[in-house]
Amino acid sequence: MAYDFVTQKLECALKAMTSVIGADWIQSRDALTRPLLDAYEPDALKHRAGAVVQPCCTEEVRAIVRIAAEHSVQLWPVSRGCNLGYGGSAPLLAGSVILDLRRMNRILEVDTAGAFCVVEPGVGFAQLSEYLQREHIPLCPSIPGNPTGSLIGNALERGIGYHPYGEHANYLCGLEVVLPTGNLLRTGMGALKNGSCWHRYPAGLGAAWDQMFVQSNLGIVTRAGVWLMPEPEACLRTQVALPNFSDLEWAIESLAELRLQRLVEHPIIVGNFLHDAAVHSHRNEWHSDDDTSIPDAVVTRIMDQYGLGWWNFPLMLCGYPEVIRAQAKILERRFAGKVHYPLQFEGWVRGDAYPSPLATAPSLTGLKVVDWEGADGAHLFSAPVLPAVGRLASYHARRSQRFFELHSTDYCCTFVVGPRHVRNINTILFRLNDPVSVARAHALCGALIEDAHAHGYGEYRAHLDFMQKAADSYDFWNHAQRALNNLVKDAIDPAGILAPGKNGVWPKRLREPPSC
Ligand SMILES: Cc1cc2nc3c(=O)[nH]c(=O)nc-3n(C[C@H](O)[C@H](O)[C@H](O)COP(=O)(O)OP(=O)(O)OC[C@H]3O[C@@H](n4cnc5c(N)ncnc54)[C@H](O)[C@@H]3O)c2cc1C
Repeated sequence: MAYDFVTQKLECALKAMTSVIGADWIQSRDALTRPLLDAYEPDALKHRAGAVVQPCCTEEVRAIVRIAAEHSVQLWPVSRGCNLGYGGSAPLLAGSVILDLRRMNRILEVDTAGAFCVVEPGVGFAQLSEYLQREHIPLCPSIPGNPTGSLIGNALERGIGYHPYGEHANYLCGLEVVLPTGNLLRTGMGALKNGSCWHRYPAGLGAAWDQMFVQSNLGIVTRAGVWLMPEPEACLRTQVALPNFSDLEWAIESLAELRLQRLVEHPIIVGNFLHDAAVHSHRNEWHSDDDTSIPDAVVTRIMDQYGLGWWNFPLMLCGYPEVIRAQAKILERRFAGKVHYPLQFEGWVRGDAYPSPLATAPSLTGLKVVDWEGADGAHLFSAPVLPAVGRLASYHARRSQRFFELHSTDYCCTFVVGPRHVRNINTILFRLNDPVSVARAHALCGALIEDAHAHGYGEYRAHLDFMQKAADSYDFWNHAQRALNNLVKDAIDPAGILAPGKNGVWPKRLREPPSC
């Protein structure tokens, strides 16, 4: 009976939405295919959406939100929905309607002198990159490992890229947001009717709200200003390979200092050998036993085959040629005696042929990591934040590696080094069609989150299946932060329709049992 009522509500809402956006832009539940949801979710029903709606403009988004509130139908907004490893476009709560914004894909403005662009949520990294190159605009977008996503969706998840503007959430400036009531907000200087510094100065007067819409379920971002790095006069790039697991300790210590001193300005992505090797080959070419992770002798063979160290990372210097040459000398001195070869820098100066190390065309190669386990390969991420202290990072890596071994899974990870913190992104590779492999992967992800929590480390981002667990670990003062989140959620989203459960935040009617 309850099911019928829910279905009826959804059908009424979809009918009303059809009258706003047209039947061509609504896909019913029966038409939904795996790629539209979460390509790596083994249980197709767990996060099955009720429908997908694809509005073309802010006004249509506002109308959909008002209809959803009227019919108590939940919406799950995505920009391009490529959140692979964290749940794709699938909603946390089955039956929610995916609000897919990929049709809103206009590059609204590029200000070359001001070094920013204004984009809609459907604008992808590849689209912007191609546009800038085609128009000869000397601005460089920061691109993540998965380039199929969107500037806005990735930044709203606090995504990471490889160049100096790689902390994407920090480079959002000025948002347009549809609130869960359907009202429209422009943040910062956009709150002035004729605000001309909307995408130049991040705050307005008084409390600033941009970050409130990052990793939250409090609004739908329909456009944003994104700061872009001006093309430098020159770049130098080198790839460093460290032969031993134990090198991680001094490497994190040194790299964090280089970041703190601003000698290296980009997030430094230190990946283990498998993070690179998995892109080039399949597991069964190296090791046939499913019940053990790859042994050390095989690790050595893999490293030899691809010329990899146990840990590998790129370093990039950008700026004036005289300055970066001097900086490169400092790096050479810093690594002398630590690596068994002189650092080799590859150079680019303005006027050289593209791509520059900064403006590299988005590449799909990195996505092949998932094929390590074979044709039905899939993955999950767990991603705790640690202090940028070599001893702690190294101890953490040893513990994590042990958890991978205990769960018969190959250790695949990166450590993303910032000036004061390190994000440890564990890539848990598994086979989608093998229940044992799926169970192992999920058990491992849970164990890693628990272990991190026990050591005082919280997740920076979480997969749908682990969002609640990750949110529960933020437990200071009897979950005081959750109490505040609930208060704000209820005030801003009184009908409780927007992305219920996102990062552990539920609307009142779904977190409390119904009263009689
Ligand atoms: C091999 C591999 C490598 C990867 N490498 C990286 C990497 O280097 N760096 C990185 O950051 N990620 C990486 N990822 C993870 C992920 O694929 C990317 O972050 C991707 O950019 C996210 O997809 P998207 O941009 O389409 O975001 P979406 O899926 O559109 O959005 C993500 C989430 O943000 C929220 N959201 C999105 N848009 C809106 C909106 N307009 N309003 C309100 N809320 C919204 C929603 O909660 C949504 O679920 C990688 C994944 C894989 C498989």
